[in-house]
Amino acid sequence: MSEKVKVTNLVKTFGDNEVLKGINLTVQKNEVVVIIGPSGSGKSTLLRNLNKLEEPTSGSIVIDNVDIARNDVDINAVRENIGMVFQHFNLFKNLSVGENIMLAPVELKKQTKDKAAIQAKQLLKTVGLEEKFDATVQSLSGGQQQRVAIARALAMNPDIMLFDEPTSALDPEMVGDVLAVMKDLAKQGMTMVVVTHEMGFAKEVADRVVFVDDGQILEEGTPEQIFEHPKNERLQDFLNKIL
Ligand code: ADP
Ligand code: MG
Repeated sequence: MSEKVKVTNLVKTFGDNEVLKGINLTVQKNEVVVIIGPSGSGKSTLLRNLNKLEEPTSGSIVIDNVDIARNDVDINAVRENIGMVFQHFNLFKNLSVGENIMLAPVELKKQTKDKAAIQAKQLLKTVGLEEKFDATVQSLSGGQQQRVAIARALAMNPDIMLFDEPTSALDPEMVGDVLAVMKDLAKQGMTMVVVTHEMGFAKEVADRVVFVDDGQILEEGTPEQIFEHPKNERLQDFLNKIL
């Protein structure tokens, strides 16, 4: 096994609000870690620290043996390597589906448009939207837009993918298609950190489930340990509320 991500004593405060209170988390190469926990517990803040959308107040975040919290770290290099998918897909509405996917490879990696287009079409195929290359963003359903957002993140050829409640804003009938794409990615060996309330996905796909409450990891384990034999009382309460 090799460590992709190692978070040590991560503390994040906003003003006098201590949102992360000393997080220790390791993610191995090819591992799928699912983060669960109540709203406001710091899950998004944790993910955002992993790709430098936030800076730690203290503690370290080492990705591929590089401490990304250091001032001399190239923020773009970090983000190229780590794809992120948000609850609200944030596609560019004035660009076509294909252009959304090609944008970063062409602008940041200086790929030729021809090459980027070929890759974009391949990625659309992997998310089941082969025929949507020329479509406008507005013409797509929420679930389709989220799959395009995943394809867009993959276009930079990241080796870690972060997902922050990727299905929470979707109509129920769209959720399955998005989860299926994520499951395929996991099968292909993508290293993934996924914040979700989809416990079925967590049970089926996660190698490890991490329960975050009030800025701390209170319990972690296999899906079986977390869902069948939760030890922590707050985890038990949380599961009772959502299952
Ligand atoms: P979760 O994703 O688990 O719902 P968040 O990480 O979004 O939790 O938020 C945890 C806490 O941090 C909340 O109290 C939220 O208001 C606060 N918070 C998050 N981001 C910011 C920010 N940029 N400025 C101030 N407070 C923030
Ligand atoms: Mg959140």
